[in-house]
Amino acid sequence: MKKIIIAIDGPAASGKSTTAKLVAAQLGYLHIDTGAMYRAMALKVLRNNISSNDVQKIAELAGKTSVRLVSNGGYVKVVLDGEEVSEEIRMPEVTNSVSPVSTVSEVRRLMVIEQQTMGKEGGIVLEGRDIGTVVFPNAELKIFMVADEHERAVRRMKELELKGVTIPVKELEKEILERDKIDSERAVSPLRKAHDAIELDTTNLSIEQQVEFIVAKAKKIIAKS
Ligand code: C5P
Repeated sequence: MKKIIIAIDGPAASGKSTTAKLVAAQLGYLHIDTGAMYRAMALKVLRNNISSNDVQKIAELAGKTSVRLVSNGGYVKVVLDGEEVSEEIRMPEVTNSVSPVSTVSEVRRLMVIEQQTMGKEGGIVLEGRDIGTVVFPNAELKIFMVADEHERAVRRMKELELKGVTIPVKELEKEILERDKIDSERAVSPLRKAHDAIELDTTNLSIEQQVEFIVAKAKKIIAKS
């Protein structure tokens, strides 16, 4: 049976990660969270006390950095220069600096090479901002997930609360919109819906419904190929 590539793109906190993980599990595919890779790079920039706007220093640092996603059974570890950073990359400091770091073209070039290498055999669900437009423009299934901003902020708040972090919903809404603005307006690979992507508004959907929608589409494509 053919192993296809599924690209899931969309703005911050639109439900991509949870959905992509479950879709991958149902199909027996690998799940690649490309945002985690940009977050790992942003963490390294922070650790080196480099400003998130210093394009030249960030580009130099990217050339000396290894970011890998290592599959460990059902769980994918984020490994920065040999050290697991899966938890650290979710810290608010990283979230607040990742979008400017992701505008640096050298960072994107290196991450995209890594993502294309991981995905070339198919059997993969990649989620991010530029998967359907840049990383795998020929992906067999492209989904663009959107959701109302308030709903996205509430989801993020609940996610953080589970980790013992309390941030007011208004503050999260502001951070999400700021990130979306930088991600959509950057010159290289901006956040954009691919012309052949299916838009999925998850505002009023349960996670099960989102997963079911994508898995059904994927199975149809797999059956035909
Ligand atoms: O998906 P997540 O919200 O964790 O992504 C963090 C950030 O990484 C995004 O806000 C964006 O700046 C960057 N990113 C990107 N391209 C991707 C995935 C994420 O620029 N393919």
